[in-house]
Amino acid sequence: MPQELLLQVSPEIAANDLLLKNHLSKQITVSVNEIQHVSILKRSIDARQKAIKINLKVAIYLKGEPFQEQKIQLPDYGNVAGAQEVIVVGAGPAGLFAALQLIELGLKPIVVERGKDVRGRRRDLKAINVDHLVNEDSNYCFGEGGAGTYSDGKLYTRSKKRGDVTRVLELFVAFGASEDILIEAHPHIGTNKLPQIIQDIREKIIECGGQVLFETRLTDILIKNNEVQGIVTHKGETILANKLILATGHSARDIFELLDRKQIFIEAKPFALGVRAEHPQSLIDSIQYSCDYRGEFLPPAPYSIVKQVGGRGMYSFCMCPGGVIAPCATSPGEVVTNGWSPSKRDQATANSGIVIELQLEDFKPFAKFGALAGMEFQKSIEQRAWHLAGESQKVPAQRMVDFTQNRVSSDIPKTSYVPGTTSVEMGQVFPGFLTQILREGFTEFGKSMRGYLTNEAILHAPESRTSSPVRIPRDPLTYEHVQIKGLYPCGEGAGYAGGIISAAIDGEKCALMIGAILNK
Ligand code: FAD
Repeated sequence: MPQELLLQVSPEIAANDLLLKNHLSKQITVSVNEIQHVSILKRSIDARQKAIKINLKVAIYLKGEPFQEQKIQLPDYGNVAGAQEVIVVGAGPAGLFAALQLIELGLKPIVVERGKDVRGRRRDLKAINVDHLVNEDSNYCFGEGGAGTYSDGKLYTRSKKRGDVTRVLELFVAFGASEDILIEAHPHIGTNKLPQIIQDIREKIIECGGQVLFETRLTDILIKNNEVQGIVTHKGETILANKLILATGHSARDIFELLDRKQIFIEAKPFALGVRAEHPQSLIDSIQYSCDYRGEFLPPAPYSIVKQVGGRGMYSFCMCPGGVIAPCATSPGEVVTNGWSPSKRDQATANSGIVIELQLEDFKPFAKFGALAGMEFQKSIEQRAWHLAGESQKVPAQRMVDFTQNRVSSDIPKTSYVPGTTSVEMGQVFPGFLTQILREGFTEFGKSMRGYLTNEAILHAPESRTSSPVRIPRDPLTYEHVQIKGLYPCGEGAGYAGGIISAAIDGEKCALMIGAILNK
């Protein structure tokens, strides 16, 4: 049996196998030549002290002890070409992991995705960044891989079910992600690596006899006696099956409208909304690592901050170290921000959503929209921001201190947001109560993270697609919609996930529920 050890070492030792072996040989008092292999089981950064340490959990194999490099393998996916069909709408993490799980269960997924494959999608991202053109079916939220494809690919989740999380991480590794994601406390993949992984997942689905239909938008659900019969696509085609996993994400407003129109029960759900703040990465490094220069062995520093302001939580969301702010609108006439990073997180800027928890009563001015009140509230802010910034994909921007002092910034330096910015007093974008909380909140943030409240930081607005503004309720035991048999609301759009990992887990769970019925 290898000896397992918890230890703290300098970043330099943690980054160098030879130095680490030397260090361990002293710790366990054996000669360095006696150490056959060191496996790192867990890695995290402890930045609480001035001299930053890396926490490691290692397994040490001495000479003569059995040691075999473990390669993570894909599950045994059989051929499902002739098997019973299940429709999966949406090829985001929820839809793709549902499809893989269905194949494992011997069922045939037919994945229906409104957007293009990962490569075709790139042209549309360029069009939104450079030409300010938003394709309503192909953008940062819609297309193969869903909203997570061109993201930072952070893979942490608040889910306490470690087994479920590990299974999804191992699947990512089996499809090509670095094994580091299995040991890092805060793993991430990066926007340059995700597309290939997602393409490989799709190819596996097809190789096993599943179907993936791109540029195919669901426009209607066929229902008889409160039971799913199939779907209709925008091409007028009908696909028949009595099990439907609906994993269309938090931005599929037409899906929420369709369900509302068909009187399929949905309800408004609180979400969070605010701005995306961008600082120089070197400034965040110096705050988080208490140093002038982070050196070559530490990664660009992330941050996470939460405060109670005016009785509400205001917190950092989807923080991207060394990242870029992306234009994430899904329709013309609106602007939306979010962030991504390459795997090395080597851009000069750090960005994060800074958002405030909303409550259902905030949607009162939109009460006439019923279950869609939150969605209309969200839309109104995105459209106002679009108008204020000049009716293109430019976003309203303001320096952070200027915002807290209610002063329009006289200039906005170039930021990572490629379509550009327009200097706007942010108070015009948001309802008064949100502006007030944001102003107070940034002042509070500046007290606990010295240097954070600075005019070097630029706020972009709005950060509005944090989670779904609608819940599609399902039975907690069967995962079936509370009213329509055979309909499985799934992932972030249905209100049952927040992030790549939890969406993937939810996709698997819905598939398992279907398997339990069909394979009885
Ligand atoms: P989605 O990924 O939204 O997928 C839904 C899919 O359904 C889309 O592909 C869409 O095109 C399709 N669809 C919608 N309507 C229809 C229709 N009518 N017919 C057919 N198809 C339809 N999360 C993290 O955990 N870590 C991160 O670092 C991270 N960074 C992000 C960065 C950006 C820029 C964005 C936009 C999101 C980020 N997220 C991140 C959030 C994460 O991407 C989502 O939580 C996750 O993708 C939700 O998965 P999902 O499968 O439920 O939905």
